[in-house]
Amino acid sequence: MRNFLIAGNWKMNGSTAMSTELSNGIVADMPASDRVELLVCPPFPYLRAVAAQLAGSGLKLGAQNVSAHAAGAYTGETAATMLKDIGCEYVIVGHSERRAMMGESSEVVAAKFCALLAAGLKPIVCVGETLAERQAEQTNAVISEQLEAVVEMAGIDSFANAVIAYEPVWAIGTGQTATPEQAQEAHKHIRDVLAAKNDAVAGVVRILYGGSMKGDNAAGLLSMADIDGGLIGGASLNAADFLAIADAAIAQS
Ligand code: PEP
Repeated sequence: MRNFLIAGNWKMNGSTAMSTELSNGIVADMPASDRVELLVCPPFPYLRAVAAQLAGSGLKLGAQNVSAHAAGAYTGETAATMLKDIGCEYVIVGHSERRAMMGESSEVVAAKFCALLAAGLKPIVCVGETLAERQAEQTNAVISEQLEAVVEMAGIDSFANAVIAYEPVWAIGTGQTATPEQAQEAHKHIRDVLAAKNDAVAGVVRILYGGSMKGDNAAGLLSMADIDGGLIGGASLNAADFLAIADAAIAQS
């Protein structure tokens, strides 16, 4: 049985005041459940302060990016060991915004994935197609290429300590959500790709859906067999909206 993971990606939003208020708001009304894990991924400058606020609450801490390198002359970069040191448990890699805007290739994403595992952190690796790729019926091919690059570098067994997020690019921040059936089809494809290499690993890895997930569409998505949670952007910036998704997960668990 896979536990749900509901993860908030705050992206480049907020301030000291906002991150304090948001994390306190989530902690204050957080439902207790051993079947649903809750995670927030604030911007780097607020990680330490949010870590202090989450202490002992059960709400987990993650980061939005990491360097592929272990240490050294990489100005402006942050090593996986540093994120571990300040209390992170998860780190997002391969978000479509970084692939598109920062030119991160699937190989760079794979190297970051390996750096996280080496530091004892859990990668949340994002995969997903653009609208043009979906319209050209390339959805499965794009997902497979993005996944295979990680499997090739990190090995299939490493996915036992990782999370995958299926994030159709056309649904991110657009208000346009994949239907539960569209999402399930992609999630099933992801699990099948992994199962062809290691059935047991494919059975335990959690696959989150990301793309305009909200309180009013979460139940339908989370009811699908291969959807094990959500990676939430916009709706994670408000405690009540984020917790509405957590409640939908608890109702399914
Ligand atoms: C995201 O960027 O990971 C995301 C899913 O954003 P949103 O929920 O705003 O679509």
